Amino acid sequence: MQLVFATNNPNKIKEVQSLIPQHIKLLSLKDIGCFEDVPETKNTIKGNAIQKAEYIKAHYGYDCFADDTGLEVEPLNNEPGVFSARYAGPKRDANDNMELLLNNLKDKPNRNAQFKTVVALHLNGKLETFTGICKGEITQDKKGDKGFGYDPIFLPNGYNKTFAEIDLKLKNEIGHRGKAITILVNYLNSL
Ligand code: IMP
Repeated sequence: MQLVFATNNPNKIKEVQSLIPQHIKLLSLKDIGCFEDVPETKNTIKGNAIQKAEYIKAHYGYDCFADDTGLEVEPLNNEPGVFSARYAGPKRDANDNMELLLNNLKDKPNRNAQFKTVVALHLNGKLETFTGICKGEITQDKKGDKGFGYDPIFLPNGYNKTFAEIDLKLKNEIGHRGKAITILVNYLNSL
């Protein structure tokens, strides 16, 4: 089976590749000749995941899945949420986003947060969604150089290392995207 993963983010491809069974050949957007920005203009994480999967099916004809992820921070009314990528502006710079978040949390005793991933699958004319959540808290400072995005400031519950300090295998086991992809894989295996 061939399935497009509607992303060009090499970090996401690396994370997801290791979770997908070998008989499923994963294609990236580059592999199908898609070099444009896929629209993500909805105001929910789920809405964006569905929008991306539907766009690829409609414009390129491939069965595919897309993910959208947001970091929901409790004392900030669950922001940045769906705006996580552009939190500090249109440059989508991970460092600027983390600095702004740390600044907005200054003096806030509650630092609870969660990553939420929704995966939307477009397969055989049907659309399904799968959600993965990882709860934790935002650290006072950035730590670690693995991973991407907000990983250096996210401490998953039950661990004393940030997502940027742990290896990919553990991040996949306990992380939001790994959980959503595992549900997707179970679904594909059940067909
Ligand atoms: P998107 O799902 O690619 O739209 O990601 C939204 C924002 O969340 C971007 O700023 C990403 O860098 C960030 N993000 C997505 N997944 C992760 C993750 O696993 N760890 C840290 N940040 C992430």
